[in-house]
Amino acid sequence: MRNNVLIIGGGPVGLCLSLALAKRGLEVDLVERQDAEALTAPAYDGREIALTEASIRLLQTLGVWTRLPGEAIAPVARAHIMDGADDGFVVDAAALERERLGVLVSNHAIRAAAWQAAAAEPRIRMHAGVAVEQASTDAVSAHVHLADGRELEAALLVAADSRFSETRRGMGIPVHMRDMGMSMLLCRVQHAEANHGTAWEWFGQEQTRALLPLAEHLSSVVLTVPDGEARQLQHLEPEALAGELAARYEGRLGAMSVASTVHRYPLVATWAHRFVGRRFALVGDAAIGMHPVTAHGFNLGLAGVEHLAAAAGDAVQRHGDPAHPSLLARYQRRLRMNSALLFVGTQTVASLFTDQRALARPARHGILHMGRRVPVLRRALAASLVDESLRPGSLPHHLHTAFSVLRPRLGLRRALR
Ligand SMILES: Cc1cc2nc3c(=O)[nH]c(=O)nc-3n(C[C@H](O)[C@H](O)[C@H](O)COP(=O)(O)OP(=O)(O)OC[C@H]3O[C@@H](n4cnc5c(N)ncnc54)[C@H](O)[C@@H]3O)c2cc1C
Repeated sequence: MRNNVLIIGGGPVGLCLSLALAKRGLEVDLVERQDAEALTAPAYDGREIALTEASIRLLQTLGVWTRLPGEAIAPVARAHIMDGADDGFVVDAAALERERLGVLVSNHAIRAAAWQAAAAEPRIRMHAGVAVEQASTDAVSAHVHLADGRELEAALLVAADSRFSETRRGMGIPVHMRDMGMSMLLCRVQHAEANHGTAWEWFGQEQTRALLPLAEHLSSVVLTVPDGEARQLQHLEPEALAGELAARYEGRLGAMSVASTVHRYPLVATWAHRFVGRRFALVGDAAIGMHPVTAHGFNLGLAGVEHLAAAAGDAVQRHGDPAHPSLLARYQRRLRMNSALLFVGTQTVASLFTDQRALARPARHGILHMGRRVPVLRRALAASLVDESLRPGSLPHHLHTAFSVLRPRLGLRRALR
């Protein structure tokens, strides 16, 4: 029996998984459709990824973090949640005696750093610039047919090929999919007024405006609108788009100018019915494609990386086979336990705050009112941004974390305004 793992998809999660497996002594083949040139210097794609402290620690362990240029890491000092004219509430890192709520790193910078780290690892064999055409597994091994005619074989096959995973479909795993009919429009803007390191989530009539601070006068604009509207905005000339954005952000940051290419992502959330099969596992967006509103997709992907690498490593040690069914089942169980509540919660928040019907409005106001009045709720929100709980852990561990998050603390009133 060979002990190698074959990963389909060299996105940020596939690359991090290859590193985590190599650290446990496994041999890895990684197949990615994009060519090595595009992977070495990925283009800006609009996504600024909010990373939790747990994710930062894992990226450090994998040798990805040190390869990020310092200027690619932007700290978030506070978060401001608003609903229309309701000014909502602020969660402040300083008041929680933390340096930051979290950090933002561009997706393309994470991809470049993860690619460099994986390229330097002798246990990882890269097959870039070639797509997988067909994949199958049997009792003994997994087989993959590449578009250039090559055949690869492995003990364990992992699909990390996006939320629209062709491999998942090929292996007959159904997926729960929710298309919200909305799209996110993303670009960087320069603005006259300083953002003071504040991230905004600002819900409004038929649009949600988010703002992610990258430097004092540079932010990422994230506008969620019906897809047709997003397409129209995407095709505006930069000056016209800047004027439109300044108006939509009600001039709060002064005059704006567009500082990057403009990107559009349709909002489709996915949840695979199973995360594992015979000699097969799903990871990253291929397993769970989160709605980006709570900024947890990649963070959950990294939690999956830790669970799956631990399962495959333990399976080799105990059974001499990285695809042993009991350890794959453990991976599925742990990832589900980590993510189910977050997935459902995120869907609920996304639905509630984008629902224009009269009934949703009082519920929104109620939540913001409670956020202002109930420190414990704001503390829970802050904890979700600086979350420590997305690491492998037992149910008691999670209950303990939940308890310590909700436990009232001295000085909390001063900490949260
Ligand atoms: C607008 C937006 C904002 C986001 N913000 C955040 C955030 O703040 N925090 C956070 O944690 N997450 C965030 N996310 C989620 C995060 O971007 C994703 O969870 C993450 O990129 C998923 O990585 P992945 O490697 O699983 O998949 P992908 O990045 O989709 O990569 C899949 C790879 O597989 C390759 N591939 C596909 N099919 C094949 C094939 N047949 N053969 C070979 N290769 C193939 C593709 O070329 C691609 O490189 C955001 C997402 C969006 C859309």
